[in-house]
Amino acid sequence: MYTNAMTMKKVINGAKKAPYYKSVGKEVEVFEHSYKQKLPILLKGPTGTGKSRFIEFMAHQLEKELITVSCHEETSSTDLIGRYIIKGAETVWLDGPLTIAVKTGGILYLDEIAEARPDVIVAIHSLTDHRRELFIDKLGITVKAHEDFMLVASFNPGYQKGFKELKPSTRQRFVAVSFAYPNEKSEAEILTKETSVTEKDAKKLVQIATKIRNLTELGLTETVSTRLLVDAAKLIESGLPKRLAVHVAVVEPLTDDIEVVAALNDLCDLMI
Ligand code: ADP
Repeated sequence: MYTNAMTMKKVINGAKKAPYYKSVGKEVEVFEHSYKQKLPILLKGPTGTGKSRFIEFMAHQLEKELITVSCHEETSSTDLIGRYIIKGAETVWLDGPLTIAVKTGGILYLDEIAEARPDVIVAIHSLTDHRRELFIDKLGITVKAHEDFMLVASFNPGYQKGFKELKPSTRQRFVAVSFAYPNEKSEAEILTKETSVTEKDAKKLVQIATKIRNLTELGLTETVSTRLLVDAAKLIESGLPKRLAVHVAVVEPLTDDIEVVAALNDLCDLMI
């Protein structure tokens, strides 16, 4: 059943238009070489900086199946490896996303890996070194990874309160690439490619973002991401007044502090 579903997804993937991704550094080159050398990759950076879009783009370029798992504090090795389920009068084994990717040679993307439970890190250990194998303890078997299998994880090192770190011993199992905000020209281009906003408005949105990003004294946990700008551009594209679009898509998601919101709204009103 799984195989059929997977094959179908693969076909659709193959026929699909390439996702738009604007390269901002050497990440494409690094990914291609890491893939060739079968090295796992860690994409580091704040939310909304294009990590997920990048991996979608690379999977499409390499014509590989991409399986994404958004990790959260309950994500366990069982969720990744697989479990027995009851089907009618029988118990049947169901491979999890990691096992499927290991067997079929797909790319497994563990989004926000640091959020997952520690047993996830233990489960991927033997896949991140020369062994490239997965031990399935519930079945008592070890599966050798398919030649094309690749493990990619993302990690946001920027959380300030209650953040989860990634242990140095885990980090050192990955080639790591940093994602930051694109330069103004590239970011404006992303906005005009992702939405039908005018070049002039795209530039203004980027100027607003740059201004807020430089206000480090506000102590925001996370600052304006490209994602927020794309959202604002979409609202403008659909006809929402520009200032309101910026208030709700850029300023409000940043903080709940009423005074800071008011100050940022005023600042944005002057700019757009
Ligand atoms: P992350 O995974 O880092 O949280 P995403 O990949 O989901 O971020 O990016 C959020 C949105 O921002 C994307 O849907 C896309 O519209 C836009 N984006 C950010 N960076 C880029 C980029 N380099 N090229 C194209 N789109 C981008």
